[in-house]
Amino acid sequence: MPDVEIVCVQCKEVFFFSEKEQEQFYQRNMMAPQRCLKCRSKKAAAGEDAPKRFEIVCDNCGKHDQVPFQPKTGRTVLCRECHEASRSRARYAN
Ligand SMILES: [Zn+2]
Ligand SMILES: [Zn+2]
Repeated sequence: MPDVEIVCVQCKEVFFFSEKEQEQFYQRNMMAPQRCLKCRSKKAAAGEDAPKRFEIVCDNCGKHDQVPFQPKTGRTVLCRECHEASRSRARYAN
């Protein structure tokens, strides 16, 4: 497949969708990008493409944190620090 020229929908600049990238995209069943690399990285930096985060309050220390999954109600939620601490405790217990 040859390189494809695409006009960025955001900045209207022409960018190349390289053969290598095309392969990666098709392997993941993704559509051709509509934005140039610059705009895509800007978008990623803005957090729009970031996975959804859920705000939690740690049951252990009361700290606010964000987790990448929907916390189940009635279940203990831990901030990253407490989560890691409890994990390493479990490791040492064995
Ligand atoms: Zn652009
Ligand atoms: Zn905590």
